Amino acid sequence: MSELRLRKALDKLKASGVRITPQRHAVLEYLLNSMTHPTADEIYKALEDKFPNMSVATVYNNLRVLREIGLVRELPYGDDSSRFDCNTTEHYHVICDVCGKIVDFHYPPLDEVESLAEQMTGFKINRHRMELYGTCESCQQVAQSN
Ligand SMILES: [Zn+2]
Ligand SMILES: [Zn+2]
Repeated sequence: MSELRLRKALDKLKASGVRITPQRHAVLEYLLNSMTHPTADEIYKALEDKFPNMSVATVYNNLRVLREIGLVRELPYGDDSSRFDCNTTEHYHVICDVCGKIVDFHYPPLDEVESLAEQMTGFKINRHRMELYGTCESCQQVAQSN
């Protein structure tokens, strides 16, 4: 499954004329295999053994390229703590208040909110973002066993 996704993503990279460097390949593969919405720093730490000469700036640079092609979405949280998501289909996120874990939550897009907002504010709405906060299952278990 993730092999197929990787091959499709690589095809898209090739079609866009972007050079596939080993680092870029590794960043993409890491994102496709992790459903955790990692930060650039986490990706850097996961790959630094494999690419000792790679800097965090290189990771950022690769993420920017992947984002521009539409293979990766950036979820900004102010400062430098953006998280990166290679699931580019419409979905929402559930975030653990305790450990910060982000899990995909599939729900029909709330299109009616967008059109209502347009009517009420006069904005032309381009997108929306919804996040739900709570305590994940493993953090609930930790809380119970204490
Ligand atoms: Zn948690
Ligand atoms: Zn996601």
